[in-house]
Amino acid sequence: MKEDRLYYADPFRTEFSARVTGCEPDGDAWAVTLDATAFYPEGGGQPADAGVLGGARVLDVQERQGRVVHTTDRPLPVGSTVEGVIDWPRRLDHMEQHTGEHILSGTLHRLYGAENVGFHIGPDTVRMDMSLPLTDEQLAQAERQANEAVRRDLPVIASWPSPDKLAATEYRSKKALEGPVRLITVPETDCCACCGTHLTRSGQVGLIAIVSAQPYKGGVRLAVVCGGRAAAWAQRLAQQAHAVSGLLSAPADALTEAVQRQAAQAARLREQLAEARNAWFGLLARQVGEQDAPCLCLPDLAGDELRRCALALAARTERPCGVFSPGEGDTLHYALVWTGGDSAGLCREMNGAFAGRGGGRPPLAQGSLHGEFAAVQGWFAARCDESFNH
Ligand SMILES: [Zn+2]
Repeated sequence: MKEDRLYYADPFRTEFSARVTGCEPDGDAWAVTLDATAFYPEGGGQPADAGVLGGARVLDVQERQGRVVHTTDRPLPVGSTVEGVIDWPRRLDHMEQHTGEHILSGTLHRLYGAENVGFHIGPDTVRMDMSLPLTDEQLAQAERQANEAVRRDLPVIASWPSPDKLAATEYRSKKALEGPVRLITVPETDCCACCGTHLTRSGQVGLIAIVSAQPYKGGVRLAVVCGGRAAAWAQRLAQQAHAVSGLLSAPADALTEAVQRQAAQAARLREQLAEARNAWFGLLARQVGEQDAPCLCLPDLAGDELRRCALALAARTERPCGVFSPGEGDTLHYALVWTGGDSAGLCREMNGAFAGRGGGRPPLAQGSLHGEFAAVQGWFAARCDESFNH
């Protein structure tokens, strides 16, 4: 005998009494069936309810062979009457997301003929896969109209039409289903076959927001938030905008232009810095004589700057030139150029002496090692002394 599914008669019902009709061990838990339940089993993109049943925690709810099976953390006596309490904040959140999804999917379908081909309520956002590619402008238009339907506070009507009436009805998710089909209708907005739980008025959704849109399988994958999630999301965005507005000394509704100005300025400064560094490397190189093997440590040089500096020095001597720059902890990044000898061999020796790694195409080698620069400098001088003065 099938249980009475109380969430269909009243999706706002949070407590109920029912008789335990079955209880069997199920792994570390128990699988409990009832003669009636307000616990919604996972299905149609909506996660399972959680809550308490006869003092046991309800860990999961699934439909198996047409029965609602509650996974509990302890057994319940078959034949006893138990009280069930739904984790209401969790369920209400799911109903807000689910109802918002219907309104937005219905609007996208009405405006552009896009079908919802994938739907899942995740812990942070609702995933909606749409069958057609949609531009940002189209999505913004649909979002505006969906929120208009929210503000009109339309009824959300659940019905089980007769087969004849169903055959004559236009609705989304029309496929050959066994047994009676449940339709969820929001007038002038959406009509869709669905087994989930929904709010009773569109106004209860409060707000629908598209968080992101990405191309997906020839269509678009949306991340959407509704209801309380949308309110929290809007508040977080406003707080961020306020903070950034303060940092940039720009109005909160003109942040894009302010960030573009900052980015352009940063690009100009990077160019000027590169020019200044090249001039500095040139000055350092002018001090290098033919018989020198320079070994320098300079602050804050990036990989390509280390390379440019070492090459500038090596233009003045055929002996090894090493340029180092401190990284995190005792890390030293380096570039090594030796135009008159085996740069790869010298790089290997140095890596061996200072737990380093790296290499390159002769006469250049680049990498990082660990140690005090003074020790590296001493090693470098002794190594060059050995090569050139013995
Ligand atoms: Zn639904």
